[in-house]
Amino acid sequence: MSEFDLINQFFKQGTVKRDDVLLGIGDDCAILSPPPGRQLAVSTDTLISGVHFPENTAAEDIGYKSLAVNLSDLAAMGAEPAWASLAITLPAADQSWLKRFMLGFNELASKYKVALIGGDTTRGPLSITVNITGFVKPENLLRRNQAKHGDKIFVTGTLGDAGIGLNAVLNNLPLDHGLNYCIKRLNRPRPQIEAGLLLSPFSVAAIDISDGLLADLKHICIASQCGAIVNLENLPLSDALLQYYNNQPDWQPILGGGDDYELCFTSSQNNVEDIKNILQLNKIDISCIGEITDSLEVNCLFNNQLVDIQHDGYNHF
Ligand code: ADP
Ligand code: MG
Repeated sequence: MSEFDLINQFFKQGTVKRDDVLLGIGDDCAILSPPPGRQLAVSTDTLISGVHFPENTAAEDIGYKSLAVNLSDLAAMGAEPAWASLAITLPAADQSWLKRFMLGFNELASKYKVALIGGDTTRGPLSITVNITGFVKPENLLRRNQAKHGDKIFVTGTLGDAGIGLNAVLNNLPLDHGLNYCIKRLNRPRPQIEAGLLLSPFSVAAIDISDGLLADLKHICIASQCGAIVNLENLPLSDALLQYYNNQPDWQPILGGGDDYELCFTSSQNNVEDIKNILQLNKIDISCIGEITDSLEVNCLFNNQLVDIQHDGYNHF
């Protein structure tokens, strides 16, 4: 199968058609028509086999995750997803693998009405780069630099599940219901697009948690010139995680492990009730995990006692 056969068979027949895609796959560039009054939010993420996912990950899951991690960046800006391009490097023209890869990719693309508008197809060690574009109203942008002393800190969902999933896969642990749940959280992260859109009218600081809560919260603090206190007893933990740790959570991997893809955001005290209400109405779980300080430090407390935890999260270099 040639490169062009692959493009025609697997990428051109994208499931999502949008009126704002004037010219999609097939020419040298896609031609797109952004809606008036909106700005474009653009982000790129690469997934490399053996780095971002274990080598034995199912093709469907790789396809799903490659779009999910990009959508998660749009969520953190309060943007509405629109267009994606896909640069894929494959060891071989494996049709059955590509079919399953696109099944996972298209599952999420359909859910968020993301049109695949172009890409690149090359041979080499497996690597996937997705570039995503979304729309934002300029006045509704979520930025990392909006946190202020006294703000409350929230996260969506639960933390630490994906880290347990990764550990289970890498160490071939015998799988039970709880570990299967954690592996699903690793392979199929839920981008918090709805939460980002609901938060966007409020002036909150937000980031998606890809490298671990502490590392990502630190990014908010550096951008906003502030510090934070995290109350560990308030961290949202799944039943699967509590069972895995026999109700004695190990904070380091929960706070420093990656791949949660939840949102961390801050809110002034004034907006807390409105934000809680609107997210609850939309069935999105959030937990208040701490408070922004003026100290320039991120500290963790457990029942008011300082707990020393490595902050750094994942770093490629
Ligand atoms: P060019 O030679 O101009 O760089 P290509 O031959 O690489 O173009 O690609 C032909 C068309 O197929 C382009 O529209 C390109 O965007 C699209 N395309 C190539 N690879 C992919 C892919 N993996 N996913 C989506 N579209 C792709
Ligand atoms: Mg060209």
